[in-house]
Amino acid sequence: MSRELGHNLTPHEEVRDTILACVDPLASEEVRLDEAPGRVLRTDLVATDPIPPFDNSAMDGYAVRVEDIARASESNPVTLEVVGHLPAGVTSNVPLGQGKAVRIMTGAPLPEGAEAVVPHELTRFTEHQVTFFKSATKGQNLRFAGGDMKAGDVPLVTGTLLRGPQIGVAATLGYSRLPVTRRPRVAILSPGKELVDPWEKPGPGQIRNSNAYALSAFLEEAGAIADVRGIVEDDPAVLREDFQAAIDDGADLLLSTGGVSAGDHDYVQLVVREDCDPAWIFKTDMRPGKPQVFGKYRGVPLLGMPGNPAAAIVSFTVFARPLLRKLLAQEPVVPSFFPVRFDEDFRYKKGRVFMLRARVEEDLASGLGGYRFAGAGDQDSSFLSSLVRSNAFIRLPADRDEVRAGEVYPAQWIHPR
Ligand code: AMP
Ligand code: MG
Repeated sequence: MSRELGHNLTPHEEVRDTILACVDPLASEEVRLDEAPGRVLRTDLVATDPIPPFDNSAMDGYAVRVEDIARASESNPVTLEVVGHLPAGVTSNVPLGQGKAVRIMTGAPLPEGAEAVVPHELTRFTEHQVTFFKSATKGQNLRFAGGDMKAGDVPLVTGTLLRGPQIGVAATLGYSRLPVTRRPRVAILSPGKELVDPWEKPGPGQIRNSNAYALSAFLEEAGAIADVRGIVEDDPAVLREDFQAAIDDGADLLLSTGGVSAGDHDYVQLVVREDCDPAWIFKTDMRPGKPQVFGKYRGVPLLGMPGNPAAAIVSFTVFARPLLRKLLAQEPVVPSFFPVRFDEDFRYKKGRVFMLRARVEEDLASGLGGYRFAGAGDQDSSFLSSLVRSNAFIRLPADRDEVRAGEVYPAQWIHPR
């Protein structure tokens, strides 16, 4: 119904920010470097020494003084005596004399007096002599101390997700242990009389609990520990008990799906309303994902998302992932948006911001670059299989029902990079 537009719908960004304002980052803990990938750094990492620590060769070749081969050419080759051999890891304390060359390998410290390295494939050489056919310029094929990082540089800041390059930087700077945020423990509760476990055969009117498992996958990927608590009876007293049991087991966040609308059995909404402080009952401007509830249940944040499987995953993307990042002190809290171009007209349902599950592709063919819309499956909020074929949610405006070819809209990765 178009009357819906503007009728007490809260912009999803406002909902997200309201939720974010209610939570604080968790404490940090120290882990070994090999345990740190995927964790969030909780300090600025300072380079205490220059990297590389010494001037060294960038090539396998011959270290020379440039004036010694200044006149070398194809027609006037210059031959120097080879007075040493420096593999990586070996330092020479003999300065390079005039008219001499040293055979040097990549990464080996430069002998004093050497000004350039000529790659060996540009020379002709025997064990004791090397012939040059070209002059060299000062600094050629050298890496200077501090060229990568200077002492005092801060290559990594607090809030950084630690992946390969970051772990490499920490290692090269000599950090063997790092402070990272404790992994949030997230309890997933699945209220619903109609639900059975995935290994069960549904009876009449029943379906399998897919949300708990889909969400646990998203949670683990986001750096949390997922605690699948299973199916909860649609009964407010049982729900309260199960939330409390999850808290007793150490939950930092309670997540549930279903039971948040105004139906007869929507008890998550009831429990939030009656037992949470603060307590927020939202009607957001999103499709899917309109009803959301959030509160603190005995001090622990509780996010109740809608039950339809696609709505639950959209809700995870828009609300739960930023919430987790806030708990993790991870920057950016809200994963970034990127522009997606439509090459053809596309119709959708008006009235709320449409979170279009879509396949987007890199546009290498047109010369325009960026990403293009490459198809959307069924958008029914209870359907899951079209999500499998999607990699992004494209955010389409509420006050329209049609995208025109050539228009560009913001999208988020279903799995942020
Ligand atoms: P509700 O908000 O509880 O009315 O649920 C909305 C829809 O989502 C209903 O069709 C439910 O059967 C479905 N649903 C609720 N919880 C789950 C779940 N854990 N897994 C799969 N579908 C669910
Ligand atoms: Mg229900």
